[in-house]
Order: sequence, then structure tokens, then C-alpha cells
Amino acid sequence: MSTEVYHFKVGAFECMAVSDGTLTYTPPTFPPPTTLLFSNAPRGDLEHTLRQHNIQPEHWAEWISPYICLLVNTGEHRVLVDTGADGLDPNTGKLLQNLQAEGIAPEDIDMVILTHCHPDHIGGNTLDNGKPAFPNARFAMWKDEWDFWTSKQAEEKLDEHVREVLLSVARKNLPPIQERLDLIEREREILPGIHALAAPGHTPGHMALVISSGGEQLLCISDTALHPIHLEQPEWCAAVDFAPDQVVATRRRILNRAAAEKALVLAFHFPFPGLGHIVQKGEAWQWQPIATMV
Ligand SMILES: [Zn+2]
Repeated sequence: MSTEVYHFKVGAFECMAVSDGTLTYTPPTFPPPTTLLFSNAPRGDLEHTLRQHNIQPEHWAEWISPYICLLVNTGEHRVLVDTGADGLDPNTGKLLQNLQAEGIAPEDIDMVILTHCHPDHIGGNTLDNGKPAFPNARFAMWKDEWDFWTSKQAEEKLDEHVREVLLSVARKNLPPIQERLDLIEREREILPGIHALAAPGHTPGHMALVISSGGEQLLCISDTALHPIHLEQPEWCAAVDFAPDQVVATRRRILNRAAAEKALVLAFHFPFPGLGHIVQKGEAWQWQPIATMV
């Protein structure tokens, strides 16, 4: 299987999970993975759970996270969900070349939906010269998200050690899209078959999407969970989660929905292609990746 692009269908919609690359989260730039991903987990429970996932806690020095964008061709629209991290790292910023390899030029995209404004999701909005990377696209995001990142709130409320990098990426990548931006204030359809779901917590206006066609459904959960263990332990939050209480409430709502509707799910940071199903397991859930051809 290619680890760059994965084709699948949702009803009549032609979809692609498109890799923007991977980032290796490791000290000293980042906290160790156990702290980064599960900052409030009781140590004993965490070590037990990691071992169940064949991770040796004492040797877990780095988390290599995929960045997985989504392209949906509805027949009428070509919609991109998130724009990747651009040059955040030598191993990121592969979105445009991976789209080009599929015969898709930036000009072909007419809608870009941003699930939230972290660097790995908006970094590809603009080119190095500051011009929009998708010249014919309108953009959509949740209004609370735009308001947070374009006001003093971000400066005042973000942790000091992440503030500068988060703000510099937002300042570069948000103003150029302002003229062509649709702000979403309530759960509603963005385009026919593409519906916005409020999923706050990871960031103030973090958003999930339901993509539906012909009775089939894809639930794009973005960063509602960063690692499959978050489904099994929905109260364990990441150090980068802005409002942990809200994260837990959002997870319960979104994961319940995914399990009840047996929807196909796309998670931005899960192992490529990030597609699978969420099944109820006791009070929590479990990730079942789709079977992919090797
Ligand atoms: Zn992310």
C-alpha cells in the first residue's frame, strides 16, 4: 500500500486520504510521548495500557505522527480538509506534491475546510510568498476558532512554551484567507453532503465533519483523538489539548455517534491511512483500522 495516498469511496463521492508527511515528536523539542499524549493519565494504568499495545513505556522515546489530509470529490466540488504543516519539518509539507501526483492541481480545489488552526492543519494555506496556496478556493472554519486565533485570546491563554510557534503559523496562514472565508456558527451543511459538527476542546473551535452520500457516511474526527488509546481511555488528554474537560465531553459525543452509526472514521494523526471504525467496548471504545492491501 502507498503510504502517501489512499483512495476510497463514500457513496458517490470519490475520496482520498492524502499524507502531508510525518512529524517525529521527541525531546527536547517536545515532551516525551507519554506526557505529550497522556498528560493526566495515572502512571500505573498508562504503563499497563501501553504494554497492551506492544509499547514498552520505558523505551518509548518518540511518537512518529502521520499528518493525513482528506480530499473529497463530490462531483460538483473538490473539497480539501486541512492543509498540512508545510515546512514545519523536513518530513512534512508533502500534500501538494501528493495531490499533483494524482493529477490534482491547487487550482482544482474550490473549498478548503479547516478543522482547527494548529500548525499541522493550516500550515499549507499559504505559499512561501504569502499568497494563498489554493487560489480558487473558499475556506470554512468554526467561528470560535477564527475568533480565538485572530484576537488577543490566543496570546493570553496559550501555554508559554508553545505560544510562539502556534501564533507565528496562525499569523502567516490566517490573514491571507480572510477575504474568502465562511465562518460556521452552528452545526450545519457546508456543502451538499458535508456537514459541520462542533467538537471543541482540543482547540476552542475545533470541528469534526460528517461526509455523507448514498447512505454511506465518513466521520472526520480530526484531533478529537490523537492516538487510538484515546478511544479506550477517553479521559486521558494530550498536553496540547486546550480544554481537557471539553475534550472528554466532545470525545464521548463524537465517538458514541461513530459507533452507533457504524460510520467510517478518519483520524488525522492515526496510522496511515487513518481510516477505520470505532466500536463500543464497555464504557469506552476501540479502534478497528480498515483492512488495507499491502
Ligand atoms: Zn493535529
